[in-house]
Amino acid sequence: MNKNGKNKTRVYLDYNATAPLRAEARAAMLALMDDPHNASSVHSYGRAARAAVEQARDHIGALVGAPAEQVIFNSGATEGNNTVLQYFAHTYLDEQILVSTIEHPSILEAIPNAQHIPVTPQGIVDLSALENLLKSGKTSLVSIMLANNETGIIQPVTETAALTHKHGALFHCDAVQAAGRTPININTLQIDFLTLSAHKIGGPQGAGALVLGLCGITPTLLLGGGQEKKARAGTENVAGIAGFGAAAELALAELPTLPSTLEHLRASLEFELCEITKEGNGLIIYGIQGGTDSEQAASPVQRVTNTTLLSLPGIRSEAWLMNFDLEGIALSNGSACTSGSVQPSHVLKAMGANDEESASALRISMGWATTEYDIQRFLEAFETIYNRIKG
Ligand code: PMP
Repeated sequence: MNKNGKNKTRVYLDYNATAPLRAEARAAMLALMDDPHNASSVHSYGRAARAAVEQARDHIGALVGAPAEQVIFNSGATEGNNTVLQYFAHTYLDEQILVSTIEHPSILEAIPNAQHIPVTPQGIVDLSALENLLKSGKTSLVSIMLANNETGIIQPVTETAALTHKHGALFHCDAVQAAGRTPININTLQIDFLTLSAHKIGGPQGAGALVLGLCGITPTLLLGGGQEKKARAGTENVAGIAGFGAAAELALAELPTLPSTLEHLRASLEFELCEITKEGNGLIIYGIQGGTDSEQAASPVQRVTNTTLLSLPGIRSEAWLMNFDLEGIALSNGSACTSGSVQPSHVLKAMGANDEESASALRISMGWATTEYDIQRFLEAFETIYNRIKG
């Protein structure tokens, strides 16, 4: 209740952490949960499960422009990322693996000896540093994400793929935060391996996919069963896969409209943020004024339209998050959070942000159910909290 005795609806603006489950995904899952559905069984339950899995495979393939048979279901992007990196680390023992410094921990911590490709102060993979690393030794794999989970900044994937292939290596792309937010075509982008996660597009947690390009290699992590044509052993999460498929179908259908709707919402959000803070107070919105180099800061980079990451030195992330939570608004500071504690961002550090900037980060991430009302509520709360803390 607010002070006028009215109930305020809770506002969720943390889609990059996880999106609310879509009703259609929930329905698809519930329809498969009462009966015993093992997609490998030959009886009618098994055949119904197989049909649901294959229908979902079609939808996931369509979302990234791949034939359905190139989609391998798994438990999510952490597994997908580990599958690719560990396979290459164990198979090509004498060759290096290159990953950017702003990757998700499921890339950065998947193997012990990956070489790190730096990013520019704008948060974009430094292509000349990548080329130097490729020249410095035989490389088996390069892994770069399509859109960063903290900043939303879109990475130069086409250029990275071209450089990688020129040097005889293969290219993996974590597309978790780009799916449903920007069109993806695995072949046009020349991606050899692509990871997806259901819960970022309104599907369930615990379902994901590794999508294969055309290089002919199938990285495998889990052995001991014939599922997914032996590419991923273990009884399929049939309901989860069906929910993933339903979410992917909707995410693809929304691509012509949702990103531009969110772009409008974000433009007004960022404009108002500048008004409220009068800019002079050190507000940084990464991807607009990202970076310390003034020439680079003048040219905005491309971002997925659902994400705003800001820093406001003087107000710590913990204080923001607690105050917003009291107002019924769910947000994040953007960086990986393992035990509910707020960790400093490795992404902002890689972009050259100072400790004060990292410690005051706040991420607003929108998605399929975000409305103008949500943004208004956020802005009202932001103004109140900002004035209270800044005094
Ligand atoms: N990669 C990125 C870019 C992510 O944002 C996440 C989720 N935070 C993951 C991988 C891991 O995905 P999952 O939760 O499906 O394991």
